[in-house]
Formats: sequence, C-alpha cells, structure tokens
Amino acid sequence: MKKELIMVGPPASGKGTQTKKLAEITGLKHVDTGSMLREAVASESEAGKIAKSFMDKGQLVPVDIVARIIKERLSKDDCKNGFILDGFPRSLEQAEILDKILKEIDENNEVDLKVIYFDIPVDNLVDRIVNRRSCPNCGAIFNIKTMKLKNDGKCDNCNTELVQRADDNETTAKSRFNTYFEQTAPLIDLYNKRGILVKIKALGTIEEVFENLKVVI
Ligand SMILES: [Zn+2]
Repeated sequence: MKKELIMVGPPASGKGTQTKKLAEITGLKHVDTGSMLREAVASESEAGKIAKSFMDKGQLVPVDIVARIIKERLSKDDCKNGFILDGFPRSLEQAEILDKILKEIDENNEVDLKVIYFDIPVDNLVDRIVNRRSCPNCGAIFNIKTMKLKNDGKCDNCNTELVQRADDNETTAKSRFNTYFEQTAPLIDLYNKRGILVKIKALGTIEEVFENLKVVI
C-alpha cells in the first residue's frame, strides 16, 4: 500500500529534523515545499517559470501555482510508493487544495494516509527560539540552553562566533506562534474528524521524539 505522511508542526517543533530522519529509515521521499519550489524553478517547467516571476518580485507564489508544482512533484516516480510531505498544508484552504491533488494522483492507488502533528507547548517553543543561535559561517544551529558547546558562544563545527537572529526574540516568537496556531487549528480539526490525525509528543531529545514518531507511522 502507498504510504503518505503529512507533517504538520509549528516552527522550532523539530519537524524538519525528524522528517529527514524518517525519510532515511523508511525510504519514503521527503518532499518539502521550499525545495520543491526551488526544484520547479530550476527545471524551468511552465509552473516553475510562473513561480519564478513572483519570487523575483519578492512576492508570494499564488496558491494555484504552488498546487500545480506539488501535483507535478508528487506524481514523479520517486513518490510512487509514497512520500512525506512537509510544509503544506498550513491552512484549511491549502488542505482543501491538497485533497484535490491527492484525489487526482491516487485515483488507482490504495493509500495509507496519516497526518502527523508535532505537539509541543508554546512556552517550550518560545524557549527554543530565544535560545537559538546560528553559525554565520557553516549554517549550523545550536540551542545554548540544552547543548553544551565546546567553546562558549562559538560554533562546534568551525569555531565561528555564533549569532542570534534579530527576530528570534520572545515578542516576535509569540506573535509568530499565535498566527501559526490560528491558521492551523481548523486544519488539525478537519484531519482529526476524519480520523487520520496522529499527535506525537514533540518535547524531548531528538532520539526520544523520533521513537515517538516511529511507533505511530
Ligand atoms: Zn560553523
């Protein structure tokens, strides 16, 4: 049976890290919206070209174009046995679009579809954001509260002075999460009613959360 997993979780919930690990052990294709858009632009597909024209102007790519790109991507051979979709949908409107796409591409497939929700209290998320530092040289990200760095304030990989992003402060983080939860609440509700929502406890170490994730998929 074709396995389809849709990952939903707030920023800093660890969703990206966990999804990468999961793709490795399951062999399912990890499809995330950011890479998908970049891939479409690079391939110069018709939808990719339209997407580029918006990105070049610094505008959001319209949802119908994103939908075309998602459909093209999920129809490729490497998604034949299933995929893990990450970054879409983020709202009820996008969930309805995804319903249509999946209906079209899975006309002749038996599908095991699950929506995995990374459940973690807002206070913990805010805490992660304010303690987050990144390396301007190699891009590595560290949590200065939970990780013991070899040299205080320096990158463990390349010893460059770590920096904090300007919007990684409590006020901005809280407002970002409020917006996120407002948008996703109806989406979670919808998948819950359909009986395909699986909540996992996303608080803990990377290994602990990964264990929680493995048992539900
Ligand atoms: Zn570094």
